[in-house]
Amino acid sequence: MPIGVELDGYFFCEKGITDYKVHYVHHDGENADWRKVPYCESVRYNVYIGPDGRLAPCMGFSDTVLKEKFPSVLEHHLGDLTLDSFYHDVVETKVSDLLAKNPECASCEFLPKCCGGCMIEGITDDGDYLVPDGRCCYFHRHIGEDAVRAVADAAIKKYCPEREEEKKQ
Ligand code: SF4
Ligand code: SF4
Repeated sequence: MPIGVELDGYFFCEKGITDYKVHYVHHDGENADWRKVPYCESVRYNVYIGPDGRLAPCMGFSDTVLKEKFPSVLEHHLGDLTLDSFYHDVVETKVSDLLAKNPECASCEFLPKCCGGCMIEGITDDGDYLVPDGRCCYFHRHIGEDAVRAVADAAIKKYCPEREEEKKQ
């Protein structure tokens, strides 16, 4: 890919990379132990520090009512905050926490790939982030990974035949 392209959660391809991802597909979690699967993988390895020193699992949280609950590195040692704080609690949230509050997800056939989506997308005005992500839900229920890959692969075959050759090697 000559440039990086991202189309919501449907399609993502980095510059210089020959494969693409469908970000609405969070896991391939058949038979997963949901008590061990993070609700969001990304917050496990990214950390944000705002201009006021507050930690945030991702930038989306800095625009929510929860913002004030996250601790500040100006007041506490960073190492302590990543082990014992509201920040730690959010980062440690597991898919099982979502399922405990949302039986429709617990019994959903799309759960292994959807996992409830993004914590921020469904967050309520009072800060409940254990809410299914409506956009991701729509994607899995009405579109699906196979449909996106069929379109993307057909376009790649037509416009990037050299990539098809790369895939065969
Ligand atoms: S598709 Fe909808 S109901 Fe099913 S797991 Fe995802 S968010 Fe929950
Ligand atoms: S925006 Fe959603 S998916 Fe992205 S890091 Fe934040 S919680 Fe995770």
